[in-house]
Order: sequence, then structure tokens, then C-alpha cells
Amino acid sequence: SKHYAAKPSLLGRLLPNQPVVRAVQQVTLDIAPGEILGLVGESGSGKSTLGRVALHLEPPTEGQVLFQGRPPAEDLAGFRRRAQMVFQDPQSSLNRSLTIERILDSPLSVHRYGPAAARRARIVELLELVGLRADMMRRYPHELSGGQRQRVGIARALAIEPAFLVLDEPTSALDVSIQAQVVNLLVELQQRLSLTYLFISHDLRLVRWLCDRIAVMYLGRIVEVGPAAQLWEAPAHPYTRALLAAVTAETLAPPEAAGEVPSPIRPPPGCAFHPRCPAAGPRCAAEAPRALAQPLGAMVACHLHDGGVG
Ligand code: SF4
Ligand code: MG
Repeated sequence: SKHYAAKPSLLGRLLPNQPVVRAVQQVTLDIAPGEILGLVGESGSGKSTLGRVALHLEPPTEGQVLFQGRPPAEDLAGFRRRAQMVFQDPQSSLNRSLTIERILDSPLSVHRYGPAAARRARIVELLELVGLRADMMRRYPHELSGGQRQRVGIARALAIEPAFLVLDEPTSALDVSIQAQVVNLLVELQQRLSLTYLFISHDLRLVRWLCDRIAVMYLGRIVEVGPAAQLWEAPAHPYTRALLAAVTAETLAPPEAAGEVPSPIRPPPGCAFHPRCPAAGPRCAAEAPRALAQPLGAMVACHLHDGGVG
């Protein structure tokens, strides 16, 4: 049975001349087969890094990633076939000097999909799958609209029939009018191909509509996980509440009262959210909250749910 599980106890990356950024700490994040897990948080929270670690594009400094119960390194070629990435900006992620045919042929060639005729038939099939005409294959990326380019980006990710996709803000570079079309395509493909998604976004409304569960990141930590509707209607973590309040206020910025985002290089001690948290107490600056598992695949890391802040 297929099963995706990222189990980082401490993930991170080393930046040149900088201390280790702990991209994800003390977290077990499981993604069930066929699930769409949303990953939300402000920019700089470590969402993209977690996505890259989940795809084994960046090594965890500690902890481990398991795919279908096994570390990707055990069979990296097999893992690369089964787990793929859709990038935010199709403009920069597609090689502008190649035709769409060559762009889609690249993963097929690398993974030895078959002889030229079989690869070409697959390219036609892929274009149909993402709602593009077959004659698109003769065009170059700059001859396509933003939405068409992202469809090509999705087709490329699907070329070798993966089971798991990390989608890193796949619609945020697109015009609002095009975003829903691409989201609907992603939903249709997820159902039709029984895919599992890790969907990275800063758009809470979209994630609530699209995802089965949502994980919320703050300064490299997952602070809350919950079924989408439950997290939206009854957020357990003060940071999740602040994010939702910002959505309801029709503003993209975090609430004024929540203050500046501290540096992830030197996160505040104790609960990293305590300088911005309206509910913080003495314990919050002194002690990091534990990740408390809740029913229905939920989790919250906050002293309010673990004996209080006093
Ligand atoms: Fe706020 Fe304390 Fe909970 Fe952190 S642990 S979110 S500071 S109440
Ligand atoms: Mg990002």
C-alpha cells in the first residue's frame, strides 16, 4: 500500500555563513494516500523548505523522510518517479529555449519511458490530460498564456505517473481569473489519478476549500494540524487564529497587533510565537510547547492546550 510520511524530528538546512535554520522542528507530519494536505504560513516560515525536504531535494539535518514506509535514498530513482514537484512560477521553471514537446519529453527520456513513438504518444496524452491541444507541443513557453504554461508544468510533473506531488504555490503567479481553472484541474487530476498532494499556499481560503487537512507553519515549526473545516471553524492555536482573522479582515498582512515576524535564524526562546501572541503567559517565553496529538489527525503545539501559560 502506498503511504507518504514525512517524519522530521528536526529538519533544516545550512545557509552559507549562517547558523542552521531549523526549517521544521519536533514534528511528525504524515500524509495519507489520496490525501490533500495543505501547508500554510507566512513567507519565510519554511513551507517551501519542508516541501523540498519531503521530495528529498534538500537533506534533513536530523529526522527522516519516509515514502511508502521507506527512506527515499534506498531507491532514489524509484522515489523520483513516484514523487514530483509543481513550481510556483511556470515562467521561470520552463526552459524558454525548448518547445513544449521537448520540455515534456525530458522526464520521459530521463526515466526511460520508452522509444520515441511511445514518448510522443505520452506527450499527446499528457497535453489532453491537462486540457491543452496536441498542437501546443510545437510551441515555446513564451507563446503560451500563464495558465497554459502552468498546465504544461503540471503535465511535466505527471509525465512519469507519480503518486505524490508537492505543489508549491502553484496558482499564486497566475491571474485571479485563471487561478480557479488551474485549481479545478488539480482537483480533477487528483481524483482521476488517485494522487496525494502536499499543497503549499498562503491562501487560507483556497486551502480550506481544497484540502482534507491543513498544517500551519510558524518560524520553521508546525504549530497546528487539523481537518480543514475544523481548523477553519475552531482554530486551536493563537497563530492560526491570527491568520484566520487576517483573512476575514480581507487583508493579506498579519494583524497589526501581532507585530513583526522575528528572524527564523534566531527564533525567540520558548514558544517562538510568544512575542506576537495575545494569549502568552510567563511559561511561553521559558518553555517550548510540545506537539500534542489530537483526534482526527490533528495536532496543536501550544501551552493553552497543555496545562496553561502561567
Ligand atoms: Fe501563545 Fe503561549 Fe500558545 Fe505560544 S504557547 S501560542 S505564546 S499561548
Ligand atoms: Mg515559498
